[in-house]
Amino acid sequence: MVATAGSHATAMTDPGLEPVATLPGVGPALAETLRKLGIERVQDLWFHLPLRYEDRTRVTAIRDLVAGDAAQVEGVVEAVETGFRYRPQLKVALTDASHATLVLRFFHFRRQQVEQFKPGMRLRCYGAIRHGQHGLEMVHPQYRALHGDTPVEATLTPIYPVTEGLGQQRLRSVIDKALARLPDETALELIPHEMLQPLGLMPLRDALLGVHRPAPDADVPALLAGAHPAQQRLAFEELLAHHLSLKRLRARIRKQRAPALPNDSALEKKFLEALPFMLTRAQQRVAAEVGHDLAKRVPMLRLVQGDVGSGKTVVAALAALHAIANGWQTALMAPTELLAEQHLRSFRAWFEPLGIEVAWLVGKVTGRARAKVLERLAAGAPVAVGTHALMQDGVEFERLGLAVVDEQHRFGVQQRIALRDKGAAVGEAPHQLVLTATPIPRTLAMSAYADLDVSTLDELPPGRTPVRTVAIANGRRDEVIERIRAACAEGRQAYWVCTLIEDSEQLQAQAAEVAHAQLRKALPECSVGLVHGRMKPKEKQVAMDAFKAGGIGLLVATTVIEVGVDVPNASLMVIENAERLGLAQLHQLRGRVGRGAVASSCVLLYQPPLSGLAQQRLETLRETNDGFVIAEKDLRLRGPGELLGTRQTGEMGFRVADIVRDASLMPAVQRVGTAMLREYPVLARRLTERWIGGAARFADA
Ligand code: ADP
Ligand code: MG
Repeated sequence: MVATAGSHATAMTDPGLEPVATLPGVGPALAETLRKLGIERVQDLWFHLPLRYEDRTRVTAIRDLVAGDAAQVEGVVEAVETGFRYRPQLKVALTDASHATLVLRFFHFRRQQVEQFKPGMRLRCYGAIRHGQHGLEMVHPQYRALHGDTPVEATLTPIYPVTEGLGQQRLRSVIDKALARLPDETALELIPHEMLQPLGLMPLRDALLGVHRPAPDADVPALLAGAHPAQQRLAFEELLAHHLSLKRLRARIRKQRAPALPNDSALEKKFLEALPFMLTRAQQRVAAEVGHDLAKRVPMLRLVQGDVGSGKTVVAALAALHAIANGWQTALMAPTELLAEQHLRSFRAWFEPLGIEVAWLVGKVTGRARAKVLERLAAGAPVAVGTHALMQDGVEFERLGLAVVDEQHRFGVQQRIALRDKGAAVGEAPHQLVLTATPIPRTLAMSAYADLDVSTLDELPPGRTPVRTVAIANGRRDEVIERIRAACAEGRQAYWVCTLIEDSEQLQAQAAEVAHAQLRKALPECSVGLVHGRMKPKEKQVAMDAFKAGGIGLLVATTVIEVGVDVPNASLMVIENAERLGLAQLHQLRGRVGRGAVASSCVLLYQPPLSGLAQQRLETLRETNDGFVIAEKDLRLRGPGELLGTRQTGEMGFRVADIVRDASLMPAVQRVGTAMLREYPVLARRLTERWIGGAARFADA
């Protein structure tokens, strides 16, 4: 039986590899449009899966409609009205046998459309239900007039990702033509029989047909929930393809040679002796794991995960010492300038006394200053700290031996590839060390970081006191201000964090400015500072320095302080509108306090009423300070986007798989992935190509 997997139709006769233009009715123009969707070959259409389904197999009584749902209704037009109050609109009132009324509302319409609707006629519509001024309504529903008996759809209607110039109807018909070319199961299957069989999954051919064209008797709720066996089969295969692509990326990198960077114990001793603290056992263990990798001629690919405040920076510095001792350069890259500045200060404080130069490059370093830094990097400056500016074209290192990426979830795999290439000049790939404060549940790590080895800092430095967290409604804001007054009077320092959901730095800055003015007035005896993303780096620095030196008692800030800000004397944090933030972000913010020996507290100021989700989030934070517990909870409440950053999940771009819902598949994915790479590398490559296509080709670059 093993032979079936290996004896497939070869690439030459594989109907899936034919260009789409070989399908009847697909001319050059349509082929070009399809290319925009990443569809070039017939198999790309087989694997262009529905995003979701519309259920037009039944009609819902208007009385039973629920806002937020999508539904199909049928009724008689009662009244038609056009209005031009603010903008033109057309309203059609529809009633049915349940004696309830639904308003169909159109903002864009043509004259013929208005004339089309006649009181008394019967309509069938499909659309999303929302609350309107007078009861429930549908905005721009799809609709058709009914004459006589028109049966409802027999199957769920698949909705595909489309693009301009290509609608659902047309795409559906092209996919039909492609599906007609599906070969039999043996030719289609790429996963070796002996690996697939024990998993009890549905055959691939049946799964594809079942997902594209659900049968009339298919399990509708399961399909809508993504839990149908056909979807599970495809999710498994998709997760496997992603897993394989990350593993192959890893294998490619590991095939290159990296400089061996053994430890210089004299230098390390000097460094450790000058450090104002002793390493924790966890730091020693992780530093040893990193050191072990660095001593080899194979590029290190290691992720260090550790909760906020667990002391990842010094682990990175110890790794940099390996490079320095061997005459190679280290680049440390952070996702924001503020965080990069923080690292710059730590690194300069640690390295300059040892006579080690630390160069600085961010986007705002321009002109002559930039030219000078570039010159230093090209001449071999031992350490460079900065943002993604370090990876841009034109930045050249003499001998890059180690690339450290902080808060990796904000960067993508592509950027890591770009970093790798910075070492190309000398024919050696740099070692890669990735730091993250977002602890990732195991199953998620398996899918997102299959290309990395993982070390965990599971211990906080001693002397930290757990942060006490309380949630207080905005109505009691005055009490909170009194707490700050008391803290200030005792010489303690506090943060006041302003948040907004909008991703607008400008609005955030405005909110912070308003809060700053109010708090200054309310707390004349405290010195109140301000820092936000729109300030000049110099101004930000002045405010941060003053806060650090104790000259400022209360720092009003936006979420720019989320990562990396380190002021041990700050022991109180107020987070405004805490209900708007995700768990991971709240945990990061809270990690800015509790860094010293004084008991710290965090006040989550919220605007009632709280949604159920928000309530659970605030409760979780009150109950625990453990980043791992919080991450697991976050995963259950919000999904992986929050944990990994939208960019990363967007990049992963799953079609059917959902790494939370399908987490239980991961152990099997990993098992099969390892076996396939070892025993069937050609099939592994074809599977990745099939699912990831262009992106997989990119990873091979
Ligand atoms: P994170 O893991 O969140 O990046 P940092 O590296 O910023 O944490 O460290 C947080 C703070 O703890 C810094 O002030 C750092 O100097 C300090 N620190 C790190 N390791 C230790 C240690 N072993 N003992 C005491 N303080 C430490
Ligand atoms: Mg850090």
